[in-house]
Amino acid sequence: MAKEKKKGKKPHKNKPTSKKYAKYKIEGDTVKRERFCPRCGPGVFLMISQGRAYCGKCHYSEFTSKKANE
Ligand SMILES: [Zn+2]
Repeated sequence: MAKEKKKGKKPHKNKPTSKKYAKYKIEGDTVKRERFCPRCGPGVFLMISQGRAYCGKCHYSEFTSKKANE
């Protein structure tokens, strides 16, 4: 009986490391955080891109009007 070994499992892939630590910056004795979601609360950060802040969890979006016209 020649048993063929079939792998039912998918090959393990390394997950990308969480970049949450990058959102925290320690300055002196205080911890500085980046913008977090007002709906989800601190801990859920907003993705900031192209003048917009977006929450991937609750889809909250906010416009960070820096330069409206460029
Ligand atoms: Zn949110």
